Amino acid sequence: MAHFVVVGAGQAGVALVARLRAEGFDGEITLIGAEPVPPYQRPPLSKAYLLGDMPLERLMLRGADWYAANNITLMLNTAVTAIDAAAQTVTAGEQVIPYDELAFCTGSSPRRLPATIGGALNGVYTVRDLSDADAMAPEFTAGRKLLVVGGGYIGLEAAAVAAKKGVEVTLVEMAPRILQRVACEQTSDYFRALHTAHGVTIRENTGLARLIGDGRVTGAELSDGTHLDVDFVIVGVGIAPETALAEMAGAACNNGIDTDSHGRTTTPHIWAAGDCANLMLDGARIRIESVGNAIDQAETVARNMLGADMAYAPKPWFWSDQYDVKLQIAGLNTGYDAVHVKTDPDNPDFRVHWYFAGDRLIAVDAMNAPRDYMVGKRLIEAGKSPAPELLTDPSGDLKALLRG
Ligand code: FAD
Repeated sequence: MAHFVVVGAGQAGVALVARLRAEGFDGEITLIGAEPVPPYQRPPLSKAYLLGDMPLERLMLRGADWYAANNITLMLNTAVTAIDAAAQTVTAGEQVIPYDELAFCTGSSPRRLPATIGGALNGVYTVRDLSDADAMAPEFTAGRKLLVVGGGYIGLEAAAVAAKKGVEVTLVEMAPRILQRVACEQTSDYFRALHTAHGVTIRENTGLARLIGDGRVTGAELSDGTHLDVDFVIVGVGIAPETALAEMAGAACNNGIDTDSHGRTTTPHIWAAGDCANLMLDGARIRIESVGNAIDQAETVARNMLGADMAYAPKPWFWSDQYDVKLQIAGLNTGYDAVHVKTDPDNPDFRVHWYFAGDRLIAVDAMNAPRDYMVGKRLIEAGKSPAPELLTDPSGDLKALLRG
């Protein structure tokens, strides 16, 4: 009987094994995860779960009995430490496990501050795993001082949770503006204003020189020489794809595990999906860090592991929750040259940013604007580009644009 092994029991790993069974695969499936808990979703770790608004059970991707019910061997608390691609085996704990097909769904690891500038002090956190969120939660008490390093979505979400709990928050961003890597200036402006209104101090163009403390962090020196007293620090400066095992298997890796359009790595019988995969798409490489991508890519890879011969066509979408604002994003804004803004005179929190490259609509950032997001997503997926003045008209008929 064929044996498919999936390394990494996260969002992509679970989607992959579920799809294998849904497609009728009746061979053996082993899903191996390094973490001690059953597979869970990460987004709430910097949102509702961190705030204390979501119980642990709701994080879980599947009920505890789903794995056995689907005849999937789930190995938890077990890091795969070695792979022999010629013999087609992985080493997981004490066991050497043979595979016919293998998928890497190993995700990514947060970049950390070097120990030489205080990165190893107690009270310095990153947010990736459930254990990170659980470890930092007790720090979030009113009146304490938090420094957030990095103004990307995770840093901003953690800042929002902290501010809601009465923590005094300073966020430093080395780039000229928060969200610079991922969003247009208008979106940065929107979230800067939102955080400032909630009492967060945002300092752009400002890096961290070093953290200060004896065992535990007590202060920070910023790149402009400012000293801050701090009680704890959250570092949100990006992630690095987990490629070590793929490299051990001889697979080409460049900012992720290189795959072809079908999810195959350069090593026979080995596939990759999710945050760790560096996909070939239209002649260029792309690595997408999102739940939607992890699920869709893993499902395509599952089908291809069963012989389907399908190219993966990403339909990117993403979201972020900060205070009472829900940001929803569709498309990829790479290469935009214009942003058209829609506002609602009756609702100051409503805002839609339509990204264009020439006359082509390529992406949308929708703040508290779920209908615009839904329509934008469908327009982008259908390759339709209505005139910007129709997209920004507050009284326009959005649905009519889909028919156009
Ligand atoms: P993961 O879900 O990270 O799973 C990888 C798993 O592989 C991990 O459990 C890891 O322990 C395991 N693993 C790695 N190496 C080994 C090994 N050698 N042996 C065994 N197991 C191993 N995306 C959105 O779309 N919207 C959001 O709002 C959003 N918010 C986020 C907030 C936070 C705090 C974080 C951390 C991420 C957020 N993301 C969000 C991103 C999203 O969660 C990831 O893109 C998604 O989880 C990727 O899925 P994955 O399966 O590739 O990786």
